[in-house]
Amino acid sequence: MKIGIDIDNVIANTYQDLYPFFNKFMGRDVRSEDVVAIMRKERFRMLQYFVKAWRSKIMTTVTLIDGAVETIKEWHKEHNISLITSRYSLFNRQTKDWLNKHGIPFHELHHAKEGTKHKKANGCDLFIEDNLEECHSLVDHCGKVLLFDQPWNRKPIINSQIIRVKNWFEIAKELAQTKTN
Ligand SMILES: [Mg+2]
Repeated sequence: MKIGIDIDNVIANTYQDLYPFFNKFMGRDVRSEDVVAIMRKERFRMLQYFVKAWRSKIMTTVTLIDGAVETIKEWHKEHNISLITSRYSLFNRQTKDWLNKHGIPFHELHHAKEGTKHKKANGCDLFIEDNLEECHSLVDHCGKVLLFDQPWNRKPIINSQIIRVKNWFEIAKELAQTKTN
């Protein structure tokens, strides 16, 4: 089986760990449910933010979401693991270092702009993602899409092929069911 996985806020606790840094950069407190919208609207500002984050190597300090590493290690033994992130390729080296540091195994690592992940995800039987709009574009290219529950994606899901999951234990259960379908 080919499994596509997003990194930020699915494997890595990126928002939770970096919001003090993000808020300081923005000069105001940004509510978690507004982060995705701001990242989309203030593109130039975000570019400056990411350059600053890259320079400080702060992305390499993010912690792991419970259960992610254990599950991916287990899957890697028999499935193809494709990590697909919307981080700029600027972060490629730091991302690989972070993955290695935490012993996260993978077959492929791709950087794809928001809205284009499906181009890299073609043929995935399963995809795990926290961006609801991205899930909607992935669903036509992947067998099943799991939406990793986060404050910014709590809107109604209109496609029955997208399933909301709360944690990695639910994700592992979904994969088991995908197998037997
Ligand atoms: Mg993400």
